[in-house]
Amino acid sequence: RLYNQVQDLKGSIRVYCRVRPFLGGQSNYSTTVDHIEEGTITIAIPSKHGKGRRMFNFNKVFGPSATQAEVFSDTQPLIRSVLDGYNVCIFAYGQTGSGKTYTMTGPRDLTEQQRGVNYRALSDLFLLAEQRKNTFHYDVSVQMIEIYNEQVRDLLVTDEIRNSSQTGLNVPDASLVRVSSTLDVIDLMNLGHRNRAVGATALNDRSSRSHSCLTVHVQGRDLTTGAILRGCMHLVDLAGSERVDKSEVTGDRLKEAQHINKSLSALGDVISSLAQKNSHVPYRNSKLTQLLQDSLGGQAKTLMFVHISPEPDSIGETLSTLKFAERVA
Ligand code: ADP
Ligand code: MG
Repeated sequence: RLYNQVQDLKGSIRVYCRVRPFLGGQSNYSTTVDHIEEGTITIAIPSKHGKGRRMFNFNKVFGPSATQAEVFSDTQPLIRSVLDGYNVCIFAYGQTGSGKTYTMTGPRDLTEQQRGVNYRALSDLFLLAEQRKNTFHYDVSVQMIEIYNEQVRDLLVTDEIRNSSQTGLNVPDASLVRVSSTLDVIDLMNLGHRNRAVGATALNDRSSRSHSCLTVHVQGRDLTTGAILRGCMHLVDLAGSERVDKSEVTGDRLKEAQHINKSLSALGDVISSLAQKNSHVPYRNSKLTQLLQDSLGGQAKTLMFVHISPEPDSIGETLSTLKFAERVA
């Protein structure tokens, strides 16, 4: 409740920045991250890219040594609000390789400690529902979809992969599966990941060029009054935000890049117009924002994790990621 009041005062959009550590023994001698303090990150721009410093402010910045539990800790109040009947969107934004999937899902072959936001959110959800079992009865079901080139694909079909070309909200055609434990959800997420891989050829890993969205629908019945409340939570691992050099790609690759570009800027436009409390919010400009319309704005709560890579080679993408995030924060 306190959190909701605080949110109402501050607006319901929060932006967190996370810096990936250097990988596989790379030295961090030349990191572009100069300084982190609470919500401020200072980037040192290498001399061949113009040299200088640039500071960005967010709700919080997680450095390379932040654990999965630390990163999730501020998300917990959002889970409570889903059970209270609010809609929630959690996004992972950033260039390919910056740690989006790590934050949302965790690494491959993960240990319990390395579990990402998706697992932690679901296990908190079931835990809280259990704590409230004398006052509420909750039904939980999930959908998992992928948006690739503005086409929605259901990732929870077991028989065959089909494309659902419907427009409108809440992907009515996508399978909605009842779940009663975190283990059920893990099974479904594994199915979703397998289905996602089926659509990709070996040389063409699509996961970085499509958005994937795990949606959790919660229906609660007040055991004394019989009143029903509904909340839902979208957990979205966005397509890589890197700019593709138009002079270097053609055909399918160019088309993909244009779709990604269009939908990420549509998302940025929606979130920043919500943050500025504009009266017109341009939801219709992409499939992603159309699908999430009910869960962006109004009483809904939005959380964006923006990811950056620390390597000097990534400076261009790092700055454009942070500028994107600054615009929506
Ligand atoms: P993305 O989904 O943005 O393309 P990944 O999540 O796949 O990026 O991360 C790229 C690589 O970096 C993976 O091998 C991942 O395990 C590793 N990685 C990302 N973030 C972290 C982190 N915070 N701690 C340790 N390893 C990380
Ligand atoms: Mg990924």
